[in-house]
Amino acid sequence: MTQVAEPGVARSDAPTKERVSHWIGGRTVAGTSGREGPVYDPAVGQVTRYVDFASASEVGAAVAEAKTAFPAWRATSLSKRTDFMFKIRNLVETHRKELAAHLTAEHGKVPSDALGEIARGIENLEFACSIPSLMKGGFTEQASTGVDVYQIRQPLGVVAGITPFNFPAMVPMWMFATAIATGNAFILKPSEKDPSAANFLAKLLAEAGVPDGVFNVVHGDKVAVDAILAHPDIAAVSFVGSTPIARYIYETGTKAGKRVQALGGAKNHMIVLPDADIEMAADAAISAGYGSAGERCMAIATVVAVGSVADPLVEAIKARLPKVKVGPGSDPSAEMGPLVTRQHRDKVASYLDSGPAQGATVVADGREHPLYKNSDGFFLGVSLIDNVTPAMDAYRDEIFGPVLTVVRVKTYDEAVKLINDNPYGNGTAIFTRDGGAARQFQFEVNAGMVGINVPVPVPVSYYSFGGWKSSLFGDLHMYGPEGIQFYTRAKIVTSRWPDPGTSKIDLGFPRTR
Ligand code: NAD
Repeated sequence: MTQVAEPGVARSDAPTKERVSHWIGGRTVAGTSGREGPVYDPAVGQVTRYVDFASASEVGAAVAEAKTAFPAWRATSLSKRTDFMFKIRNLVETHRKELAAHLTAEHGKVPSDALGEIARGIENLEFACSIPSLMKGGFTEQASTGVDVYQIRQPLGVVAGITPFNFPAMVPMWMFATAIATGNAFILKPSEKDPSAANFLAKLLAEAGVPDGVFNVVHGDKVAVDAILAHPDIAAVSFVGSTPIARYIYETGTKAGKRVQALGGAKNHMIVLPDADIEMAADAAISAGYGSAGERCMAIATVVAVGSVADPLVEAIKARLPKVKVGPGSDPSAEMGPLVTRQHRDKVASYLDSGPAQGATVVADGREHPLYKNSDGFFLGVSLIDNVTPAMDAYRDEIFGPVLTVVRVKTYDEAVKLINDNPYGNGTAIFTRDGGAARQFQFEVNAGMVGINVPVPVPVSYYSFGGWKSSLFGDLHMYGPEGIQFYTRAKIVTSRWPDPGTSKIDLGFPRTR
């Protein structure tokens, strides 16, 4: 196996490997910091390329290009910017299989899942194609005699997006589609674990004719992130990642005077009431618990089984587990790929020890899967832990892997209290045939996105995406109408055109009547 040192350090085999470099001002720019990180193919456990890590001055170079590009871009007519968004949308659609191949090669998700991620990203580009109507302000005629008042929305300037490893194509599209359509220049700092999708998207934007400097990519780690947070010419930062980093980004960015939206981690609960269709609920738990190897912020982490439903539900989930095909993305029959790194896989697997040590029951142990035992890839089979309680690590931590937990409660009220007491509030779901119970749940549950018989309720692009509590820091959710609000600021104009000779001096505060 390739020997690798810690990320951030240059290494001896680097010259022989492919490199992922920055994209600044419409061209590939090789890193000059001397720092880099390894990029793995998680299905084989090998380093396949290295990614340059930007220094503060390299981030500064990207900001300078973006700042130069901004005035002409914001002056570009809305109809022309719409043309660009249509072209980008069509190019991403045309090249979706190549883009998906980058996701499979570096994240490990299987091609069907990668194409699903891209399809949801494309929806954000489609939303941004309506930018002329989304940028519409308001107009009030005759607010006072001969006075009109109107609101216009204008872009912020240079804005940045910092994204996580688990959606290397979709989350950047959540951000840049709205950011550039509204007239901003954008700097993307993608995850260093799977950086190639960002450069692929950058080339598609260039092919669509987006002017140089409007979209830039700087790769790297905390050094690049801190440079973004400190740079005085960056007006706003969008972040998606884990809760501790989201909190840090929000606190540091807002202290530096920036507008910040920082989406954090999750622990999504799926309540199953006794009247639910057990087969439907079990299918949903499998799909939402193990899809993308559980590495989704909207994955179901905890099934909350209410009353008598617990035994048959756990049996129904257990019966389905052997049918989930775990394998590399190169195997067309594979439904679930490896985890992103060996370290993360081992952390996820550790809950299969801490769970029973703290009193839970392991129903299925993914370490028994042949690919866990015999492959260098970062595989873990589907795992199920029953009789989990809120005091256990398997409940308290965001596991972010294919380890589904079951908490048994007696009543609906107990189930809702569990969710409302949890520090996270991203997504949640209820499975029931009772419309009244579902309506009560949507009314009282403290989470930003709710599914009713829908286990992964990711909002469509014309709504906005965001959790509550420790799952989001900031006021505005991502993409959709709130994304437009985030990337623009309002200007209110009060205007009158009196006839010459009709004016007089009045030192009183302006009145409308
Ligand atoms: P992460 O927080 O480790 O990294 C996210 C980004 O922050 C990356 O670009 C990374 O380079 C950067 N970063 C990491 N450590 C940093 C530090 N110390 N200082 C500054 N920047 C740093 O998250 P991840 O492991 O890439 O992604 C998984 C996490 O993201 C999970 O917690 C998941 O729930 C969350 N997530 C949330 C959403 C959402 O919409 N709420 C969506 C996807 C993922």
